[in-house]
Amino acid sequence: MTVRTRIAPSPTGDPHVGTAYVALFNLCFARQHGGQFILRIEDTDQARSTSESEQQIFDALRWLGLDWDEGPDVGGPHGPYRQSERKGMYADYAFELVRKGHAFYCFRTPEELEQIREERKAQGLNPGIKGHLELPEDDVQRRLAAGEPYVIRMKVPDEGVCVIQDMLRGEIEIDWSQVDCQILLKSDGMPTYHLANVVDDHLMQITHVLRGEEWINSAPKHKLLYEYFGWDMPVLCHLPLLRNPDKSKLSKRKNPTSITFYERMGFMPEAVVNYLGRMGWSMPDEREKFTLAEMIEHFDINRVSLGGPVFDVAKLRWLNSLWLRENLTDEEFVARLQQWWFNREKLASLVPHIKSRAEVFSDVAPMAAFMFAGELNLTPESFAHNKLDEGQVRRVLQFSLWRLEAQRHWSKETIFADIKALAKAMDLKMGDFMFPIFVAVAGTPNSWSVMDSMASLGPDMTRARLRHALDVLGGFSKKETKKVEKEYAALTAE
Ligand code: GLU
Repeated sequence: MTVRTRIAPSPTGDPHVGTAYVALFNLCFARQHGGQFILRIEDTDQARSTSESEQQIFDALRWLGLDWDEGPDVGGPHGPYRQSERKGMYADYAFELVRKGHAFYCFRTPEELEQIREERKAQGLNPGIKGHLELPEDDVQRRLAAGEPYVIRMKVPDEGVCVIQDMLRGEIEIDWSQVDCQILLKSDGMPTYHLANVVDDHLMQITHVLRGEEWINSAPKHKLLYEYFGWDMPVLCHLPLLRNPDKSKLSKRKNPTSITFYERMGFMPEAVVNYLGRMGWSMPDEREKFTLAEMIEHFDINRVSLGGPVFDVAKLRWLNSLWLRENLTDEEFVARLQQWWFNREKLASLVPHIKSRAEVFSDVAPMAAFMFAGELNLTPESFAHNKLDEGQVRRVLQFSLWRLEAQRHWSKETIFADIKALAKAMDLKMGDFMFPIFVAVAGTPNSWSVMDSMASLGPDMTRARLRHALDVLGGFSKKETKKVEKEYAALTAE
């Protein structure tokens, strides 16, 4: 048997460090067994998936050197590797399960489902979506003939215990009563994650599924689907979730989570991979610094420890400093720095601003320095303004941060629209509203268009700067945060 692993990201946002971490472990596991590592794009959620996000996933994983053997961009014998290009085939599998009696047409409206849930609750049962969902066969046929919309749900037992074998965790027991009769095929004919994932893992001959522990609760549904189809199930392995230093689940509200951020900050990809390799895993000799090749050579999945690994940017910076010092000759340092500095679309996008302001080249570095900096050197005094009080300044920054965190299409135009809407809702003049934004992003109100700067800094750098500015100003206390969240909700509801 050839070991085949995969990473199956959904292209719905920035390329997440969690994706890179899971990709790394899948890659190491496959390579160590002389197997293959596959990249599959799970874009069945067409409303949320974007091709920009997909491209960023490719770029981020390539930047890290986590190359795949088969995938949408490199092809392979089991393609296509993008679920949207496979969508025609999933429905047949759903209908096959209906024919075999393992799935059923469900015509229930949201109100009916709610009622069924309530009834179950009243009976002391687990109030999931299960129970009396099926209709008599003649009713089903009549509704189908009448063209009523339906979904296909899988049948799930209500009693007993599902036992999942996990490579790291051993036996995991989950009561069937907790598992919903999952939708397999939506009313628009598109598969859900569960159906598409199982069908594709089978057709792509995936032997081992290493994924984040947030998917443990999906495992019973998947196990049942493999049984219903009569297919062998891949071996499952749920990796521990990455955590913020405060032990909460790694989130972009507390930490930059996009790989692109680390690239733009000027981290070395070798150091980032090294650090991700230390998330829950260690070398047999416990050495701190190692290359991807070394990790592959010594990889042993049983050395993964389940205590939540903490992704700490300060530690990553420290590790990166070792890599810079110890692994680059002076010449290589220059080459890398140059590549980071000059080889970027960013520089091209700055040139018009620089050209219209500089008199000599020596003007360039000081005026453009903020575009190449990590954290800006700010103090509370930097934000002093004659029209805005300190509370307003913090609100402008916080509301902009929240608004921009929700922005999925990053461009000068979308940022401008967000900012303008907020300024209007807060009843502030655009010029006044922009002041704290300028200071947070460019370090001074006297820079060129801050919208342009934000567009080329990218979402993560921009958010990190707004967050840093809030930190400099002391942020909001827990109590204040509640109040401010309410204000924000009221502002954005209009
Ligand atoms: N599409 C899922 C994700 O976004 C894949 C989960 C899995 O590996 O099964 O992570």
